[in-house]
Amino acid sequence: MTLRTKVMLSFVLVVALALGSSGYVFLSYFGASFRQSTLASLDSIALARAVRIADYQRMQVGIARHLGTIIPVKALKEGNYQQIEELLELFHKNFPMFENGFFILSATGENLVDFPPNQENRHKNFAYREYFQRTMNAQRGLIGQPYRSKRSGEAVLTFTAYLQDEDGTPLGVLGCSAQLLGEEGLGQMRQDSIGKTGYSYVYDQSRLMILHPVDERVLTRDVPVGANKLFDAAIEGYSGTSETVNSKGVHMLAAFQHVPGSDWIIACQQPAEEAYAALKTTKLQIMFFVISGSVIAALLGLVLVHRSTAQLVKLEEVTADLSVPDVEDQSLDLLISAETAKLEPFLTHPEFGLLANTIRELYRRLGSALADSHQMTTDLEQAYLQLKQTQGQILQQEKMASIGQLAAGVAHEINNPMGFITSNLGTLAKYQQKLFEYQKNLEASLNETAEEGLKERAQELRKKLKIDYLRDDIDDLLSESKEGAERVREIVQNLKGFSRVDQAEYAEVDLNDCLDKTLSIAANEIKYKAQVEKDYGELPLVACFPQQLNQVFLNLLVNAAQAIEDHGIICISTLDLGDMVQIDITDNGSGIPAENLEKIFEPFFTTKEVGKGTGLGMSISYEIIQKHGGDIQVASEVGQGTTFSITLPIKGEGNLDG
Ligand code: ADP
Ligand code: MG
Repeated sequence: MTLRTKVMLSFVLVVALALGSSGYVFLSYFGASFRQSTLASLDSIALARAVRIADYQRMQVGIARHLGTIIPVKALKEGNYQQIEELLELFHKNFPMFENGFFILSATGENLVDFPPNQENRHKNFAYREYFQRTMNAQRGLIGQPYRSKRSGEAVLTFTAYLQDEDGTPLGVLGCSAQLLGEEGLGQMRQDSIGKTGYSYVYDQSRLMILHPVDERVLTRDVPVGANKLFDAAIEGYSGTSETVNSKGVHMLAAFQHVPGSDWIIACQQPAEEAYAALKTTKLQIMFFVISGSVIAALLGLVLVHRSTAQLVKLEEVTADLSVPDVEDQSLDLLISAETAKLEPFLTHPEFGLLANTIRELYRRLGSALADSHQMTTDLEQAYLQLKQTQGQILQQEKMASIGQLAAGVAHEINNPMGFITSNLGTLAKYQQKLFEYQKNLEASLNETAEEGLKERAQELRKKLKIDYLRDDIDDLLSESKEGAERVREIVQNLKGFSRVDQAEYAEVDLNDCLDKTLSIAANEIKYKAQVEKDYGELPLVACFPQQLNQVFLNLLVNAAQAIEDHGIICISTLDLGDMVQIDITDNGSGIPAENLEKIFEPFFTTKEVGKGTGLGMSISYEIIQKHGGDIQVASEVGQGTTFSITLPIKGEGNLDG
């Protein structure tokens, strides 16, 4: 997961959490208070209606009592019912709230008079009526329990007034009858809905339904015990609000209130679904708000994260693009600052500036570390090269030293026998001279004095033994042997001269001599390959280590011979340059390709097969000439030949410690 995605996700998560939890808290708080206020308003409706009913009852009872006082006691006692009926008619006209009419029951319950007149009922006994009994017992007017009129079938409510004479003798009861569901009375109330489908109903302690929006339920006892807990509780005295399930099993909010001054109970109910509809809408709205808030936050977060990490991503790209500094590059510093310049725009960034700075610093350090290590490698390589060179020199010097020693030893050993061989040869020549002298004289005297036969025999013997030839040949043999001995002597001398042991010191020498000595040493190597042409100039003595220079000449001569395929010419010329001398050694051999010209002075550079070339000759020669303060140059053309030119100061100005 990328950093961006992570930041984005956490952003959305935080926003969704914040919105969700605040929505949840709000909802539960709002829900609770909404429920509370809904219940409270339902309660206040119930209370208001209870008060309204109580007011109605009080007013009706009051009017009934007042009308009771108007009934003329005298006429009642005397049985003048005509007069009373007229009065009742008047009542009927003026008090429309008792639309059902008025009647008077005697103290024994006999219907004395009524209006509107109902002849059937006249003189019937209604002592069984509950309101009659209660009024008589209480001796004051009250509200009767509603009942259904037998005559009209209407639900009626009777308000009574207690009638008595001045002495307190009971005279009976005035009944004022109202239609329970009449517009004048409480009929309207049951139509007043609460909310859309909420309604109220009134019942009494005896579970009798007094008012109900459904006509059929009025004056029934259709709520069995236990069907509606609050209904039952209210009968037991409970008043207040709560959520309940009504007798039809619908979840309801209900408020119960006792109507003051009677045993009536009013219940206001509203289906919970309707009451909480607003709450549900709010819930949905809040959910929508949370979801859309989260979506907006996600989009916003996307843009924000994108914008705020854009620089970081760019920095990452630039960093990844930084090239690894090439330490071989001459302008390494320029290169590094050009690369670090790419980081410049990020340096002032409030968040990533520090990071960019650190990267820049690290890059710089990397550059200088690489440069350092490169320098170290170069130094090491150089040191290694020098070491190799020195080692090569030591090797070669050792080799030369042992060859020198060997040569010196051999020369010494040969020298002695050669001494007496040479002197013996001289003596032998003298002796041989004398022997021939003697033989010559002997032959002469034989020719003069001897007889013929003896002479002939001597002649024959002389011929047979080829004495004449012998005489001539012995001379030749002796002089050849002398010559040979002389050459051996010369070689031994040269060997001694070449060897370090014999002449390891610094000396002033004629380099022409040195060249000759070296030539004789190398004769074997050269004579089958090349004809040597010398062009020596007159040279001053040169201060040097002659045996080292001999080594140089030897190396050059051997190389020249090896460069010649079949047979060629090696030319050696020397020249006096005043305080310098110059020695040129030229061959007409294979030549050196241009690309090798610089390498030939490197130790171990060789183009020759293994065993033949060591690649050390030229490097040692170069070193030696350098030490002598001289110079060695090469000019060559492939197929034409090569010339090595050595110049040396005659005063030996070089560093000649070695
Ligand atoms: P080596 O002779 O053992 O090869 P040197 O140091 O003497 O080593 O010479 C190095 C190389 O220089 C030779 O292998 C050869 O290729 C080249 N070289 C030197 N002298 C000559 C020459 N006179 N002609 C042609 N090539 C030469
Ligand atoms: Mg060589």
